[in-house]
This record gives sequence, structure tokens and C-alpha cells, in this order.
Amino acid sequence: MIKVRTRIAPSPTGQDLHIGNAYTALINYVVAKKNNGQFIIRVEDTDRTRLVEGSEQRILKSLEWLGIPHQEGPDIGGPFAPYRQSDRLPIYIKYAEELAEKGHAYYCFCTASRLEEMRKSQEANHQPPMYDGLCKKIPLEEAKKRIANGEKYVIRLNVPEEGTTTFHDLIRGDISFENKLIDDQVLIKSDGYPTYHLGVVVDDHIMEISHIIRGEEWISSTPKHILLYQFFGWEMPQIAHVSVLRNPDKSKLSKRKNPVWVSDYRVKGYLPEAMKNYMATMAWSYDGKELFSVDEMIAQFELKDVQTTAPVFDQEKLRWMNGEYIRKMNEDELIEKITAFDATVPKDSKDLMKKILPLVKERMKTLGEFESLADFFFVRPVAFERDIKKEMLQIAIDALSSVASWTHDAMEKAMRNASDKKDVKAKEVFMELRLAITGKTVGPPLLESLEVLGKEETLERLSLL
Ligand code: GLU
Repeated sequence: MIKVRTRIAPSPTGQDLHIGNAYTALINYVVAKKNNGQFIIRVEDTDRTRLVEGSEQRILKSLEWLGIPHQEGPDIGGPFAPYRQSDRLPIYIKYAEELAEKGHAYYCFCTASRLEEMRKSQEANHQPPMYDGLCKKIPLEEAKKRIANGEKYVIRLNVPEEGTTTFHDLIRGDISFENKLIDDQVLIKSDGYPTYHLGVVVDDHIMEISHIIRGEEWISSTPKHILLYQFFGWEMPQIAHVSVLRNPDKSKLSKRKNPVWVSDYRVKGYLPEAMKNYMATMAWSYDGKELFSVDEMIAQFELKDVQTTAPVFDQEKLRWMNGEYIRKMNEDELIEKITAFDATVPKDSKDLMKKILPLVKERMKTLGEFESLADFFFVRPVAFERDIKKEMLQIAIDALSSVASWTHDAMEKAMRNASDKKDVKAKEVFMELRLAITGKTVGPPLLESLEVLGKEETLERLSLL
């Protein structure tokens, strides 16, 4: 039995954890758990031009919030530390030099302007943009002398001109690439940092990753990685590429159409359990079952069953699912969650919350929606959706003042009698009352809400208008 070790290798180049990366993290985590293995986080921060300050911390925080725990990583260390590539630079140089010694890589001294010219002429001739191999001809000893003389260089992969490179994808089957279409990829950049391609292969090998599960956007990089594994004489981990998430119109998930950061959902009051459940349903179908826990997923999930059709990230579906989780949650826990989330809820209002929740729970799809539904229980409204029709309201005030026992039925009866007497529609009187008490024209059931507020508070609010 192989030791199962999976990983995600996020680059800290975005504001936070991308929802697509959260999705691959979940699958990696589940595969590790299912096989009593380990799930690892390695930070790939070698593209120094794209680094975003604080991104790594936010990525880790979002994974923690989601409840996708890792066993090794930059924050907690582990047997293969460090887990941040910028802290591992000498390792990559050593391996790249080893490849150059064996002729599987070469030093390249081409200037940026030469490369630019080459790119332009390839573009003009409708050729794929690839390095033309000029520096491949430089004998190793000469290259070393030039480096000793202080010339700037990169190290490139020496891709064979003939043949094909094939790999087996656990989800998609065999995939082949013609070597002549694979670029002599830069492995070490002129700043001494490795490119993604070298870093990912070296680290996946050293860190004993058994399964690489990543987004399909990396498929075209994989043959370069396969060649590296072959040149180093290392065993290739198993590999699977999951489909990239789509907007409902099938375009690639983008900030313009869908919030893409995990924190966007956290701040709106989505629940991590619902997020994970929803992400799981995008990857894989659990016999048509929609609501299930990560533990159930771990028991049932098989990587080979992951769908290759583009999964659609549907906000409305996620909201629906989140609402289901809210309704499923036990009351004390929900009160705790809302109180922690919503700054307008006083910390010591548990008893009041117990009365409010049954009135709003059915309508809540996110924790964030509690505020707009229930804020009036805690603070008197100061703004009103529209002007209140004072004459109508007076009918309600007179009716409610005379109600002896403050119950739904007694209030309803008084309101209807008073409306009949004045020959107005009770519905309209209720509407002015709702507006006066809550500030809004829609909200939780009105008379039940008045029961919770109590007679004194209700009449006080009305008298202030
Ligand atoms: N650093 C890559 C990323 O940003 C990792 C890709 C991989 O998993 O190999 O997603």
C-alpha cells in the first residue's frame, strides 16, 4: 500500500483563497482522509512579481475557516519543512545544475530583446511562441565560464525534439503531447528563483506526494513535469486534473460574474459546512443526494468518479443550500453563530433570540440576512422605507392600545374590528403598522413580532412617530 499524501500548492498572488483552489483543496483533503493519508500545503511564491502582501496568511485563514485542515504546511511545519518555496531556493538550483551536468538542461544567455524579437517573428509567421534553442549549442564548459564572468543567464529544460510524452490522468485517462510542441521551459530564472515547473516537481518529489490533484489549467504543463521526472529518474506521482469551475453562462469563473474569494462568502454569512457540501456537489455526484457531510463524502468518494464536464458555480444553488444548513442547525448553535457574526445583536440576548429565530429562520439563507430581517427587534427604526400614512396608523394605535392580553389573536381581532369600523382595508392598516414598527414593508410575521416586542415597546414606538 502506498502512503497517500496529497497537497495544494497555492501561489500567494491573489487577495485570498480562490474558490477554485478551495474546491481542489477539498478534493485533495478528502482523498488523503479516505486513505488515512496526509494533506499538505506548500506555498509556491516564486513568481516574485505577482506576490500580494498578506495573501498567504489569508489563504491559510480561509482554509481554516472552511474546515479543511492540513497536517503539514508553512504555518505548522512538518518533516519536509520549509513549506514555502522562497525558503528553499538552494534546493532548486542544485537540481537544475544537476540536470545541466547531465545535458537535460542548459544555460541560456539570450537577452530580453532577442527573446522579444523571436516572439514577434513567430507571431508574424503564425508559429507557436517557443524558444528556438540557440543556447542549447553552447558547450557546458563555455557556459560556466560565461557565468563566472558575471553574465546573466537562465537554465532551460532540454526537451527532446522527437517523440511524445504521455501520462495517465486518473480522471481523464491517457493524455499525450508531441515533444516538438513542448517549449524549452525556463527552470531557473535570472533572479535565481525557480519557475513553477521546476519547483513543483522537485517539491512534490521531496515531499513524497503520492497524488497530484489540481485544476485542468495545468494539463499543458504536465508533459514538462513528466520529462523532469524522467530526467531525474524519479517515480511520477499519480495525477488527476479536475475541471475548472464555470459561471452559469459556462465562461471561466471570474470576479466580474461571481465573487471568487472564499472570504467574500465568509463575510456574507455563508457556513463552511454548506460551502464544502456545495463544492463537493460540483465535483461529484453522491447518488443524486444533495445534502451530505464531508465525512459522508470521505466514505463514498472515488477520484475516478469526478466529473469532467465543466462544473457550474451557481450562487443561487449555494444560497439555497446554505439556507438548508441554517435550518438544520441546532438552535443554540445558530444563536451563537448569528451573535458572533452580526454586530447589531447584543451579546446577552439569548432569550430574545430564541423568540426571534422561529420568525426569521425560514427566510434566512445566510447569517448576513438576519440583520435585515430582524434588526428592528433590537433597535427602533430611524429610517422608513416610505412615508407612513398617519391616519391609517392611528387606527392601529387606537386598536392596539385597547388590547388587554397581548396575543396574536387578540391583536388581530382588535385591528380588524377597528378597520371595519372606519371602513378601510385591514391589510392597509397592517402595512402602516409594519412600516412604523420595522421600518420596512416586508419582514417576519407582524403580530408574532409584536408579541416578542411586547405591548409597552410597541406602543412606545408608535407614540414617537
Ligand atoms: N502554484 C500552482 C497554483 O498556483 C500550483 C499548481 C499545482 O497544483 O501544481 O495553483
